[in-house]
Amino acid sequence: MRSNLPAYELATPADLGGALALLAGGYRPFAGGTDLMVLAEAGKLPHRRWVSVWGLGELRGIAVSPKEVTIGALTTYSQLQRHGLLRAEYPLLAAAARETGGVAIQNRGTLGGNVANGSPAADSPPALLVYDAELELVSPDGIRRVPYGGFHRGYRKMDLGTGELIRAFRLPRRPPGRWRETYRKVGTRRAQAISKVCFAGAIAVAGNVVDDVRVALGSVAPMPLRCTRTEAVLRGKPLTAEAIAAARAELASEIAPIDDFRSTARYRLRVAQELLVDFLRQPNV
Ligand SMILES: Cc1cc2nc3c(=O)[nH]c(=O)nc-3n(C[C@H](O)[C@H](O)[C@H](O)COP(=O)(O)OP(=O)(O)OC[C@H]3O[C@@H](n4cnc5c(N)ncnc54)[C@H](O)[C@@H]3O)c2cc1C
Repeated sequence: MRSNLPAYELATPADLGGALALLAGGYRPFAGGTDLMVLAEAGKLPHRRWVSVWGLGELRGIAVSPKEVTIGALTTYSQLQRHGLLRAEYPLLAAAARETGGVAIQNRGTLGGNVANGSPAADSPPALLVYDAELELVSPDGIRRVPYGGFHRGYRKMDLGTGELIRAFRLPRRPPGRWRETYRKVGTRRAQAISKVCFAGAIAVAGNVVDDVRVALGSVAPMPLRCTRTEAVLRGKPLTAEAIAAARAELASEIAPIDDFRSTARYRLRVAQELLVDFLRQPNV
């Protein structure tokens, strides 16, 4: 059943200050609307007062400095894919953007909305986790920077205060050529499907020894998950069949997939393990 749209209010402030004042007064942020309009269409959007942040320049743009790249929260999937430096230095994020929805969603859906929506099945969080992203949050009290690794606290629970906006994501830059990276999404079909499992991994191997490794998954826990215990099993060890088997076993104890209408816990566990093994077995280039 559709919501009665005239019963809703959508304020369009001219600047960030105006938006923050409205948010402090009980309004909620409305960015691309690709998640929110689905709820509205289904009659499941109980909150009535929304503030459009779409026009806020402070939340837009991609800035590159020698140390980090800052991606505005309103950056769309199309913009992520088009940016040459992001494609070259953060291929997992570009791949996640490519795998998200279809062209219409990619032109309108934002990175900030994907993260703030808090879905454990969202496609970009595993990439952001692998890249050690930091969030820049803004409220009338000022700016707060939090590591993305600690942002998700449980199912749709986040370290995001009422009235606080995600302004940007900061990604540290890394020396070129050190990492081999893989992003994989498993869904019912190639386009317009929410992930049954999504996987992001980066590994740096010196000789045959794992110098460093990062593994993060979606749809295998109540929130997007960086698998630090699985990483610890591999770090500093030769990348042997035994080490890969140990990591595969550790992953099973670290994730907590569930049965739902998209898939089963058993299938998700198996797929997550095979994606990890595939990633680790690829030759280092
Ligand atoms: C057909 C279809 C296909 C889709 N496919 C995929 C897919 O393959 N993978 C995937 O991950 N997602 C998918 N989505 C979900 C959705 O498109 C993404 O989550 C998108 O990134 C949401 O961004 P948005 O700007 O549209 O968010 P909105 O709908 O505007 O907002 C979503 C939530 O985030 C909050 N919010 C938005 N911006 C901010 C901010 N800057 N600060 C604080 N809170 C904020 C809002 O209050 C709301 O709670 C799909 C959706 C549809 C309709």
